[in-house]
Amino acid sequence: MKRYTAPPMEWSCGVLLSLIKKSGVTFEEEFELSMDGSIEYWGQSYEFSSPITAAFSAGYAGERILANIAVYSKISLSCSRCLTKTELAIGGNLRYLFSLRPIHSEAVSNARGNVESHDDIDEDGDVDVIPIDSFQAEFDISPYIWEVLLLSLPERVLCSDSCGGLCPICGKNLNEGDCGCESDSADPRLEVLRDYSIKEQGREE
Ligand SMILES: [Zn+2]
Ligand SMILES: [Zn+2]
Repeated sequence: MKRYTAPPMEWSCGVLLSLIKKSGVTFEEEFELSMDGSIEYWGQSYEFSSPITAAFSAGYAGERILANIAVYSKISLSCSRCLTKTELAIGGNLRYLFSLRPIHSEAVSNARGNVESHDDIDEDGDVDVIPIDSFQAEFDISPYIWEVLLLSLPERVLCSDSCGGLCPICGKNLNEGDCGCESDSADPRLEVLRDYSIKEQGREE
């Protein structure tokens, strides 16, 4: 199975700039993307059990393009307590602000020493403005879809809220039944530790 740490090369997510109108009508386009492999992230392997749907919507805000990218899919990930593969729906969205500018000629004028100050920060102060080359007919949004996808991946998942995890002594999955390791003959001093660790686990939730 392929392991991805960057958007798959075969993703084709070009948006034609001429389709985004200044008339105030929001342009919308949906991409269905396949992921024939896993994403390595948070030190774990995320497998996809359905295609990835990415919904792009955009309109002009003044001279800039304000866009929203929403991503949905289903993943399969090991339960962080019992390691059983667990499927769950994921989804997330981010807003982006793009500014069209002639990037090539800007580079030329910069090379001549006519460096203009860049407005890479929005007036609100916290949104990065991403330059897009106004000489190109379309721009590729796959790096942004990838970014939203990574942000929507949960750091950990439980197969159920009441997952019993694995027995620390024999390794048996306690959701499948008791293993008999925790007998009444256990050292009472260890019982205290066991209760403590259960409380600690509860606090993590
Ligand atoms: Zn579990
Ligand atoms: Zn056991």
